[in-house]
Amino acid sequence: MSEDSADLIVVNSCTVTNGADSSVRGYINRINKKKPDIRVILAGCGAHSKGEKLLAEKRVFGVFGHSEKENIESILKLDKPFYKIGDLNHIDTTIVEQFIGKSRAFIKIQEGCNFDCSYCIIPSVRGRARSHSEESILTQVEKLASNGFGEFILTGTNVGSYGYDIGSSIAKLIKKISQIRGVRRVRVGSLEPIQIDDEFKELLKEPFMAKHLHIALQHTSDKMLEIMSRRNRFHYDRILLEEISSLGFAIGTDFIVGHPMEDDSCWSEAMDRVRKLPLTHIHAFTYSKRDNTKSAGMRGEVRGDVAKQRYRELISTIRGKHIKFLESHNRALEVLIEKRDGSRYSGYDQYFQ
Ligand code: SF4
Repeated sequence: MSEDSADLIVVNSCTVTNGADSSVRGYINRINKKKPDIRVILAGCGAHSKGEKLLAEKRVFGVFGHSEKENIESILKLDKPFYKIGDLNHIDTTIVEQFIGKSRAFIKIQEGCNFDCSYCIIPSVRGRARSHSEESILTQVEKLASNGFGEFILTGTNVGSYGYDIGSSIAKLIKKISQIRGVRRVRVGSLEPIQIDDEFKELLKEPFMAKHLHIALQHTSDKMLEIMSRRNRFHYDRILLEEISSLGFAIGTDFIVGHPMEDDSCWSEAMDRVRKLPLTHIHAFTYSKRDNTKSAGMRGEVRGDVAKQRYRELISTIRGKHIKFLESHNRALEVLIEKRDGSRYSGYDQYFQ
């Protein structure tokens, strides 16, 4: 349905950067001007960071937070302006987030984050880390596996913190998932280096583990890691990544380029170190200021063109490493088919390629 014929629009918003915030505000302004009769309702992370203000300014008809998503049907019937921000300690009972084709399912296992990275707004809009019950996750996986899904991707705000609050761990959960009939591959969305303990490392030898791990480093200069209030440090990260790579894993990471105080010497040290790491994939971002975070008040901002240049250098270095990895894996790969287009089949292999 086009926006023009809508009576009501729900904006499921992101608030992770100032840019995301202004796109949401810009969109709402455009709708307000173009079609003042349409009711705009704000949901998602932006509801927590700017919902109250937009409601007070009468730019939205209503606001609802994450914990209220399950009540969307009754919320959409409300005929008076409302503010239902809900509870940041809530656990959503909807576990399956998304299906890809008929083989891959994303399973949300936890919500929230107890870390305090200086650039990140997420803990204040998603709440403290809390785990879904093991029973509900396993029931869901059982149903999906019996319907033909073979690959399960475990997701959440900070997936590796699964279990701390319920006397369990992500490794224990994965072991149980792997015992369900029909489960062929388990993949973890992203982990923090300090979450990869001996119990988790034991799992890496199991055939059901995808041979790809995403380990969020965010930087390789210790000075920057400290400024960014990260819990990882390069020396340990390198030992960890080398150990995992020696087990035949492809390894991806997140990296923020151009955070305040990343001067030339930090950057050249960081790149020297990146070259030493066995990385194959990268999600690199140029730093984007987010109000109400510690980083937003820091001096030593990096010019946009410098950050872009550094970003390009980083991407091309990892691309070179990925090509070398591919060349050293020039053999038959295990692909779980997700799509068929005529005689062409596509899907991901065990290395997330
Ligand atoms: S661990 Fe991730 S979600 Fe948590 S504060 Fe750091 S960057 Fe944000």
